[in-house]
Amino acid sequence: MSPDPDCIFCKIVAGQIPSRKVYEDDELLAFHDINPWAPVHFLIVPKVHIPSMAQLTPEHERLMGRLMVLAPKLALEQGCLPYPQGGFRIVCNTGEHGGQEVHHLHVHVIGGPRPWRKG
Ligand code: IMP
Repeated sequence: MSPDPDCIFCKIVAGQIPSRKVYEDDELLAFHDINPWAPVHFLIVPKVHIPSMAQLTPEHERLMGRLMVLAPKLALEQGCLPYPQGGFRIVCNTGEHGGQEVHHLHVHVIGGPRPWRKG
């Protein structure tokens, strides 16, 4: 899907809105959430505009697999302690009832010592 000119995460991917980058490659971007719920809170997005998990098709299996394998690596790099004492939470809000506010697929990676503000 081509970039959505009204999508804030497409603008972050394009460098039109600044972000605090955690990781970038040709397919994926990770950046700190602007309103963190916990000591570690960053988002991983596919660079391509996919509105939510609901639009995923088999052609996205490799991309989403890469995203999920990247998450624990970045979580450790960002200060989450190792499993099992440490660890992290993955959240992927999908649609209105899923509490999704930004309609560009993203995975929240949340961690650090509890308690957290939310979640
Ligand atoms: P959602 O409810 O899963 O859609 O969450 C969207 C997340 O994007 C929220 O946690 C917001 O704080 C975060 N967010 C919105 N705009 C920005 C931004 O410009 N930079 C970083 N994070 C953002």
